[in-house]
Formats: sequence, C-alpha cells, structure tokens
Amino acid sequence: MTKIQENTETNLSADVLIIGGGIGGLTAALKIKELSPDASVLLVDKQTIGWGGKANKGAGVLWMLMPDQDIDAFVDFHVRSIGVFLNDQDLLYAMAKESYAAVKKLAEWGSRF
Ligand SMILES: Cc1cc2nc3c(=O)[nH]c(=O)nc-3n(C[C@H](O)[C@H](O)[C@H](O)COP(=O)(O)OP(=O)(O)OC[C@H]3O[C@@H](n4cnc5c(N)ncnc54)[C@H](O)[C@@H]3O)c2cc1C
Repeated sequence: MTKIQENTETNLSADVLIIGGGIGGLTAALKIKELSPDASVLLVDKQTIGWGGKANKGAGVLWMLMPDQDIDAFVDFHVRSIGVFLNDQDLLYAMAKESYAAVKKLAEWGSRF
C-alpha cells in the first residue's frame, strides 16, 4: 500500500505563481510565457492540472460568436428569452466579444476544434 508522506516541505520560487490549473490558469500561464518568455511561471493545483476542476471534458461544447455576429442581439436573447446572466450582463457581453479571439488563440496554441 502506498503510504502518504506527511510533513514534507518543498520550497519553490518563480516570477509568477498561478493557483489553479483549469482553463483559466493554463491560459494565463501560456499567455505570460508568450509575452515574457524568460519569466518563470509556477502553476499549482490542489488536484489535477488540465481537467477543468471536477469536470474533465465536461459536455464537450464550446460556443463562440463570429466577428460579424450581433453581440447585442446575442446578449438580449440570453437575458430575455433564456434568463441567464441576469446578474452580470456585462460579463456575458465581454465573453461574447472575446470568444472568437480566445478560440483563435487556443487553436494557435495547438488545440483542435
Ligand atoms: C459538469 C460540467 C460540464 C461543463 N461542460 C462545459 C462545456 O461543455 N463547455 C464549456 O465551455 N464549459 C463547460 N463547463 C464549464 C467549464 O468547465 C468551466 O467554465 C471552466 O472549467 C472554468 O475554468 P476555470 O479555469 O475558471 O476553473 P476550473 O476549471 O474550475 O479550474 C480551477 C482549478 O483550480 C484548482 N483549485 C481550486 N482551489 C484551489 C486551491 N485552493 N489550491 C490549488 N488549486 C485550487 C481546482 O482543482 C481546478 O483545477 C462545464 C462545467 C461542469 C461542472
């Protein structure tokens, strides 16, 4: 049986420390290295890096708006008809606005869609 070692101490240092290795943390780490290749980045997770928290692979759905699509109409539909993001419509608008560039960046980094 594997015995879990307790009371071990490790000292690490880096220019940037990122806590959490979901898509947000991984994207931040890659972006920092892209902007500043010499910076050392340390990414830590309490569980498993790259699994999106507890939702490994999730539903496999990824939405984005094409640049020529109407963001206001998209937000209006989601808020009024579906009833989501009532509490933070600015965030929904920002997500919609950034989605195309974000997916393009992920593809550039090697993600397949
Ligand atoms: C069941 C389910 C299905 C989903 N399906 C989809 C889908 O099909 N398409 C889609 O786009 N989105 C989907 N999502 C949403 C998507 O998974 C999240 O929006 C996305 O994972 C959020 O990324 P994040 O990096 O902000 O957070 P997370 O992915 O949650 O990453 C946070 C990380 O931080 C770590 N962490 C937390 N606290 C600490 C701590 N104190 N110390 C160290 N590490 C810590 C966690 O272990 C985790 O790895 C789904 C979510 C769920 C729950």
